[in-house]
Amino acid sequence: MEEQIIGGASDDIVSIGPKIRKKTFAKKEFPRKVRNERHSMQSGKGLQVMFFGGVGKIGDNMTALRYGDDILVIDVGVGFAEPDMPGVDLVIPDMSWLKAHKDMIKGIAITHAHEDHIGSLPYFLDDVKATVYGSKLSIALIEGKLREFPKVNMKSQAVNPGGAVQIGCFNVEFIHVNHSIPGSYALSITTPVGVVLVSGDFKIDFTPISGETTDLSRMGELGRKGVLLFMCESTNIERPGMTMSERVVVQTLDEIMASHKQNRIIVTSFASNVHRVQQIMELARKYNRKVAFSGRSMINTMEIAMKIGEVKFDHKLIVDIEKADKLKDEELLILGTGSQGQEHTALDRMVKGEVANIKIGSNDLVIFSSSPVPGNEKSVTNIINQFIALGAKVIYDDLSDVHASGHACQTEFMIVHKLIKPRYFIPMHGEIKHLKYHEQFAISMGVKPQNIVVPHVGSVVEVSNSGIRELNDVLAGEKIVDGKTVYDVDNAVVRDRLQLAEDGLCVVVFGVNKNSGKLVNMPELIPRGFIYPNELSGIVKEARQVLIDAVNNAAVENEKPDWNELKSTTKKVLTNLFFKKTKRKPVIIPIILEV
Ligand SMILES: [Zn+2]
Ligand SMILES: [Zn+2]
Repeated sequence: MEEQIIGGASDDIVSIGPKIRKKTFAKKEFPRKVRNERHSMQSGKGLQVMFFGGVGKIGDNMTALRYGDDILVIDVGVGFAEPDMPGVDLVIPDMSWLKAHKDMIKGIAITHAHEDHIGSLPYFLDDVKATVYGSKLSIALIEGKLREFPKVNMKSQAVNPGGAVQIGCFNVEFIHVNHSIPGSYALSITTPVGVVLVSGDFKIDFTPISGETTDLSRMGELGRKGVLLFMCESTNIERPGMTMSERVVVQTLDEIMASHKQNRIIVTSFASNVHRVQQIMELARKYNRKVAFSGRSMINTMEIAMKIGEVKFDHKLIVDIEKADKLKDEELLILGTGSQGQEHTALDRMVKGEVANIKIGSNDLVIFSSSPVPGNEKSVTNIINQFIALGAKVIYDDLSDVHASGHACQTEFMIVHKLIKPRYFIPMHGEIKHLKYHEQFAISMGVKPQNIVVPHVGSVVEVSNSGIRELNDVLAGEKIVDGKTVYDVDNAVVRDRLQLAEDGLCVVVFGVNKNSGKLVNMPELIPRGFIYPNELSGIVKEARQVLIDAVNNAAVENEKPDWNELKSTTKKVLTNLFFKKTKRKPVIIPIILEV
């Protein structure tokens, strides 16, 4: 098999979009590969897969399929802010290319209702009017989310497991899979060039606590008929074996509750894992405890799931958290949000003594039925330590089987690869290391190396019966959400915040004679966040002197002072001095009074 490298603006490379701009981090690590299987493709004949997020980092999942004038969008997720973005709430994919081609968008298919798959919908549906398709629970949770965005309307259609809808030229079948939220789907998309199977987030749980096992028979059937392209998540691709069944988690929680009958029990879990939450409530009933919810998101999610019949529970079991202290310790189980150690959530407020009359002490047993999302390890450790410092006993997933991942491990990946036997393969939903690992894994499962593309944000991959290859990139990247407004990642406000946080600031006030340009008083300096008290008076004294010299030297006989020049001189001399003394470059704010 010959590998042909196509470079430059060859005629048969279809360039779509008004302007191609590269602005993503992944480029350097990822030399773009252009591959061709034997025959070169005819322009425009193929199916194009476009990546707007979810590859190169976990989060921001958003992919589009384009054939001719039809676009199908798959998932519209958020990412989380990096440590170098202080005060930023969310990161969302740059969706401007899709918005510019909104007339071509025939529909939006949602695999499941985790934030990294639905969280950017409010910032997409404000402009794009296409119908959103997903499970009953996904649609209900999205509707709940959109209540915070009254100006955003959604047309939606819930699809049952095994159901299919025609979206433009794509026939999309929704296949049931196990994951850590009910109503999760893989998508089998019949396109004019063949079947594309998108795994969504999945695992294979042979003993789920609720519902069915991932629909392997359907996947096998599709594999027998022939799958052109398999696009598969890669989160836990490095982990051998099988993901633990949800049933083990429930058994472990049962044993823990049986051996801690006298303790007050506090459990935290992901709010969206509604079956787990329901099981914990069932255990509370078994051990004669009432359940108090703490944290809005858990209550909201459970109410939505109950309304559509996804979970059932007896309201008599629930007690208001405000009245929870009236119960004895052994009669109470608190279900709280904040498993990631985030500020202002139920657990965070509990350790600070801010939740009703709940005072954490030695009779409390706190169970983290969750695991840290990558990046949150430190804050989770912090909150665990805070509970322990207050005397509580804490059980978390390193100590006991109190959590099961929602993502497949290697044995499960082997099963789906062998059932689906795709001709072409694209790994997704992972950092670069996960995607590259999955590429090798797929090769070991029998996919030809030249039939795999590892994408990055902005990749456009063309697939047809004669080959798979990358075309020119499309405009893609990330935007930040601060409050409710969307901005570019690199902006002056965030840069200022970083500088203020790292280097502090200094306000300097002085008066200058409007005719002579000479200083009329001693400059006032107000430094914040970069000078320690023992150095303060020395540095301020020196700063005053360099400023006096600089301003007076700049003054020219019988000439009015140049105010802009004065400002930049002030910034320059103070920056130099402060850097010499403290190795910091604070933000300097000169206030010059004309006297
Ligand atoms: Zn998920
Ligand atoms: Zn995900």
